[in-house]
Amino acid sequence: MAERRVRVRFAPSPTGPLHIGGVRTALYNYLFARQHKGDLIFRIEDTDSNRFVPGAEEYILESFRWLGIQFDEGVSFGGTHGPYRQSERRDIYKKYVQVLLDAGKAYIAFDTPQELEAKRSEVSNFQYDASTRLQMRNSLVMPKEEVDALIAEGKQYVVRFKIEPNEEVHVHDLIRGEVVINSSVLDDKVLYKSADQLPTYHLANIVDDHLMEVSHVIRGEEWLPSAPLHVLLYRAFGWEDTMPQFAHLPLLLKPEGNGKLSKRDGDRLGFPVFPLDWHDPKSGDKSSGYREAGYLPEAVINFLALLGWNPGNDQELMSVDELIQLFSLDHCSKAGAKFDYKKGTWFNHEYIMKKSDEDLAVLFRPVVEAQGIDASAYSDELLARMVSLVKGRVNFVKELWNQTRFFFVAPTSYAEKDVKKRWSEDTPRIMNELIDLLQQMEDFSSKPAEEKVIGWISEKGYHLGNVMNAFRLAVVGECKGPHMFDITELLGKEETIARIRRAVEVLK
Ligand code: GLU
Repeated sequence: MAERRVRVRFAPSPTGPLHIGGVRTALYNYLFARQHKGDLIFRIEDTDSNRFVPGAEEYILESFRWLGIQFDEGVSFGGTHGPYRQSERRDIYKKYVQVLLDAGKAYIAFDTPQELEAKRSEVSNFQYDASTRLQMRNSLVMPKEEVDALIAEGKQYVVRFKIEPNEEVHVHDLIRGEVVINSSVLDDKVLYKSADQLPTYHLANIVDDHLMEVSHVIRGEEWLPSAPLHVLLYRAFGWEDTMPQFAHLPLLLKPEGNGKLSKRDGDRLGFPVFPLDWHDPKSGDKSSGYREAGYLPEAVINFLALLGWNPGNDQELMSVDELIQLFSLDHCSKAGAKFDYKKGTWFNHEYIMKKSDEDLAVLFRPVVEAQGIDASAYSDELLARMVSLVKGRVNFVKELWNQTRFFFVAPTSYAEKDVKKRWSEDTPRIMNELIDLLQQMEDFSSKPAEEKVIGWISEKGYHLGNVMNAFRLAVVGECKGPHMFDITELLGKEETIARIRRAVEVLK
């Protein structure tokens, strides 16, 4: 068989915000598609109208725009295999339901929910399948005229898949290897409901993957139990030759490793499990997102890429281009991946360090503005230089504020314990001398200013630590911060001297 073009899809149901596990699934599909120069499709699986949540589709699209995950086809992207929203494909599904009915691979069932409930309470472990279907109310046991009459009368029905018992069903999974089950464990799944004239997930999913020429189905482990049924559906349609290859990704586990990651774990430990903030229009629930929490999209991508996959060595920092090159389903693990959210913070720090000071300054400007500062008074260059002094100390852009606050706001009070330790009776006199010295300086940049001040201190026989700390206390308000003469260079002569004067006045 000729090599097939790689076509993969991400097919969310718009039932709420996209969970971070779904983002990882989309990312792996994206990496796989790019690596194989194939296509990535965005399909909306909205056949369950009860679970539809307004805004969810737009949320999902916005998440991928933020992360830089690009699709080639699909809802909002166009393409030749559309429509890509399942609710717009009703007629297509109806046609394929009819194909199965005509071939005797599916049948019409009239059992009401009450009748099914009664059966379940009568027979323990009741399953609608080859062993029970002939005791039920369906087209297998009713004369055709009766079936037609009931439908004509407007009775509601479902179409069920007629699963042959005792057949071996093989699922070849690119991550898990071969999974074999006996078809007798499966029930005759509902494929279509007359009530809303819509197919169920299983039928729509298979028909679409076939019609959209999907080559690989890469999805979460929670769909593994559906895979044997999907294989049987491909068989029933006679589509085995073009059946996609399956790859079921490992679960994302709680940080402690016991059980599936949930929103509650995020709330409990203080990390987001969604890409963006979300306010649920139905429940009013609020969920926090990685974007608003201050994560860089590159960091989120790198972090997620390693939750369930590794490059075969211990390399951790990888750009998207490197990930595209290195990604392989062979190196995806079967075992669940612990959601080590602290690692996410570490990645964010690393990506802050990788960013240029100029780019960080652009991200930092709104943080400054949010503090009520008129940021227009500060050039990009100045912000970039401030950032360069402190970025090593932060994990998030917004943390830059605490590290640089003193540049924007002169101290009006001074850390008490530092005053006790570093400000003595003699200090005002020495600070006034320092003011004179600074006043005379022509070059106020870091290195020359440092040389002059240090030279003066040793000439006078002053205590280096005491003088420098008093100087820092006066300018910063506490004995912390980056290199002193880098600070004074950015503040400038006038402001530096004004701050020392004020400290002398306030502290006497
Ligand atoms: N609509 C399913 C979901 O929400 C798609 C599963 C699949 O990829 O087959 O995840």
